[in-house]
Amino acid sequence: MFEDTHDEHVLLTPGPTPIHPKAQKALMRNMLGHMDPEVFALNSEIQNDLRVMYGTEEGAFTALLAGTGSLGMEAGFANLVEAGDEVLVCANGSFGRRMAEMAARYGAKVRLVTAPLGEAINPADVAAHIDGVNMVAVVHGETSTGVLNPVPEIAEIVRHSGALFTVDAVTTAGMEPFKMKDWGVDYAYTGAQKCLSAPPGLAPIAVSERAFARFAARRSPTPLWYCDLDGLKDYWVEHTYHHTVPVNLHYAFHAALRAALEEGLEQRQRRVRQMGRVISRTLEPFGFSHYVKREAERLPTVLALRLPEGFDDAGIRKALRQREISVTGGLGPTAGVIWRLGLMGESARPAPYRKLMVALSDLLGEPSLVGRFDDVVQQEAGELALS
Ligand SMILES: *Cc1c(COP(=O)(O)O)cnc(C)c1O
Repeated sequence: MFEDTHDEHVLLTPGPTPIHPKAQKALMRNMLGHMDPEVFALNSEIQNDLRVMYGTEEGAFTALLAGTGSLGMEAGFANLVEAGDEVLVCANGSFGRRMAEMAARYGAKVRLVTAPLGEAINPADVAAHIDGVNMVAVVHGETSTGVLNPVPEIAEIVRHSGALFTVDAVTTAGMEPFKMKDWGVDYAYTGAQKCLSAPPGLAPIAVSERAFARFAARRSPTPLWYCDLDGLKDYWVEHTYHHTVPVNLHYAFHAALRAALEEGLEQRQRRVRQMGRVISRTLEPFGFSHYVKREAERLPTVLALRLPEGFDDAGIRKALRQREISVTGGLGPTAGVIWRLGLMGESARPAPYRKLMVALSDLLGEPSLVGRFDDVVQQEAGELALS
């Protein structure tokens, strides 16, 4: 039987993240119609804030798709790829492979550039395969392995090729500056429930002028009517009906995005790095180690830690779940080998991680673990609020 017992639940997964209190409150607002002038005013603020979050050119098209991050991914390929297009997909994890699968379903001839598990894409490999490509697609931060791909370096190569550049910004945008205009990104997307700590169900997207020109020159309409860029423009720019948007999710998203911008993207970038150091420094003496070897390739928002020798992964995570703490393990080849600790949005704070440390200290019979956590928090503190 379903029982609502999770009031105090501690969500430390790499998405969804704990809902920001202001977003939670906004969810309670009364319903308004999707064509209400107040909702259009709200949408317009969201669009402006998204331009800031993504670092777009002035007036770039931004919108929320009514679906999760995967819809943001799918809409990019549906609108910007036609049958027979050559699409180079950087695939060094499960989300990169999801991109390749989607591109293929929309008729692309996919060229894969891969990297060994736990390593970033090498920009030289992109350069070697870019001739004749219509689009390059890359996941900025691979959630499945905790790897950060070198988007600015790849962008440099794509810029000289004339190809469109699609970036999955799900684990990065909103947690640190994203530079769509400076890097020359044409299409970027994320999911509301990741770095912004809003409820799941919205995919914020940004589209460059160049991508729109490519879309306008399509030989046939996109097969994905729901996310047709012209249809989205009808609603988000012309304010005519296309489909009913989830207004209450828009309220919550607006509040969460405002809170992120008020905190400041640079401050959030510092906060996530500090928390990452706090956790890894706390756990290292107990046999945990970084899964991603090169420091520059570590994704700050998903801390992938190799588990100690003989660690009972499934048993410990089950015991944590009984104490209302959710932690995520590895995927496929890394199952039982790593934990992927979420540091997106509201999870990158000492309070929820202290609860994990208290439980772990008990389960592992390591009484010094909590004291060490507190000491490291003090050492890393700076402007890090102990809340
Ligand atoms: C979570 C995630 C997605 C997919 O988002 P959903 O909201 O689960 O559809 C895509 N890319 C990355 C990198 C992710 O972490």
